Amino acid sequence: MLPTDLLLTCHPQTQTECRRVVQKTLDAILHVFSNSKAYEGLTPQDLKQAIRLETLLPDGGMGFDRVLAQVAERILPNLLRPSSCDYMAHLHSSVLLESIAAELILTVFNQSMDSWDQSPAATEVELEVIRHLCTLYGYATDENRKTENDAVDGAGGTFTSGGTQSNLMGILLARDWYCREKLGHDVRQLGLPDGYRRLRIYTSEISHFSMEKSAHLLGLGYDAVVHVPVDAHQKMDVWALQQLMQSDVDAGNLPFCVVGTVGTTDYGSIDPIHGISALCQKYGAWFHADAAYGSGVIMSSKYASRVDGLALADSITVDFHKMFMLPISCGVFLLKDSRHFEPLSFHADYLNREEDEEEGYTNLVGTSLQTTRRFDALKVWIAFQTRGKNGWSNLITTCIDNAQYLYERLSQLSDFDVVTQPEISSVVFRLNCGDNATSNQRNKQIRRTLLHQYGIVVGQTVWQGCVCLKFTLLNPLITREKLDELIALIESLK
Ligand SMILES: *Cc1c(COP(=O)(O)O)cnc(C)c1O
Repeated sequence: MLPTDLLLTCHPQTQTECRRVVQKTLDAILHVFSNSKAYEGLTPQDLKQAIRLETLLPDGGMGFDRVLAQVAERILPNLLRPSSCDYMAHLHSSVLLESIAAELILTVFNQSMDSWDQSPAATEVELEVIRHLCTLYGYATDENRKTENDAVDGAGGTFTSGGTQSNLMGILLARDWYCREKLGHDVRQLGLPDGYRRLRIYTSEISHFSMEKSAHLLGLGYDAVVHVPVDAHQKMDVWALQQLMQSDVDAGNLPFCVVGTVGTTDYGSIDPIHGISALCQKYGAWFHADAAYGSGVIMSSKYASRVDGLALADSITVDFHKMFMLPISCGVFLLKDSRHFEPLSFHADYLNREEDEEEGYTNLVGTSLQTTRRFDALKVWIAFQTRGKNGWSNLITTCIDNAQYLYERLSQLSDFDVVTQPEISSVVFRLNCGDNATSNQRNKQIRRTLLHQYGIVVGQTVWQGCVCLKFTLLNPLITREKLDELIALIESLK
């Protein structure tokens, strides 16, 4: 007798067991959603105790039902619930209901995107989703090529684990392109060129830390990253960028890449896309747009113009696990001219034989840093069609409108200082409690109090030496009344 609780097969008993396991799990999950709080769990010390196991690997298995009961008791109540309207700390979203279905499907079938024979329909779905995303972000694909300047092979892209990986890909392909085109040097084959210490990446002083990480991983080091000052609106100062690039050129350095942030992690500020593009043209540098946060803005008919010109970038980071509310992980890297993927192509006899590709079996391993890779494209396929243009526009517009409302309210109140007017859905502010040291202390305390006494999770950051609180509004269910209540609560904690 074969075990029926091992794998889902054509055998009816395994299907009954699968249904039971999924149903029981769902019941345990729903049980935890009995109130609206974001976090009601234990403090760090108590949690460590609660999670401690005598052994992870008992001699005899406990069976799924007992393990689920234990998970339901110890783990689930201590998980954060990002769908709560009391959660607004990070660029970390709740998940749309249809994406739960998508995750179930992609887990059950467990396709791996590296080769066609591991993911037949999934490969075609990813290609199709990428094709439509290229169009959405203004890139020409081989089918919608409009001008002679559009790349012959058209734009392309790949799903990634998120913004960090997408940014690494942008800077990697920029480096390899620059060294090949400008220095006649093949980095893939030969490693870094002589004088590689002169290569320079420019990005604003408040860009994401994945720029430094990428510079390290790519053998260039943190010192290759030039930090460009931001203006009062937290946007890259393009005049300063021009000065920095020019003085580097004068000093014999090699500006190969500018990363513009389209939605900074803290403020949601959008760097001047057209100005950066013009300087990249002038100095012959690659323009990578880190739109991990701001990529969602394009869905809002009211606010899409704020990301105008995104297609001027040579490559774009898009994250679907932030504004788009799809489950982690779900990121995309888009490339204006897909020929630049070449340095990532690789042929392995066991995986992606060249003769297969000539016959139309697309193996996506050649456009990714990963080998085994999730079928995350299904989440976008399902969620985009489920809600349509109007549904999406409403979701994103609501979040941006909420941030604007919060900004206006806080600006009217003398107890609060707001750093800058939001362009997307983050508002950074602080409760003014007298001198800077006192204010820093009080704002830190307020964040802890909100977390442990009220189950409300807000963010915290530092702006010019001032500790600030941060509302990152990614949940379209948050209402203005809710925001008013929160402001009143924070004021009462002064
Ligand atoms: C979140 C974020 C990233 C990193 O993306 P992950 O998906 O977390 O890897 C990069 N850049 C910006 C601007 C971000 O906000």
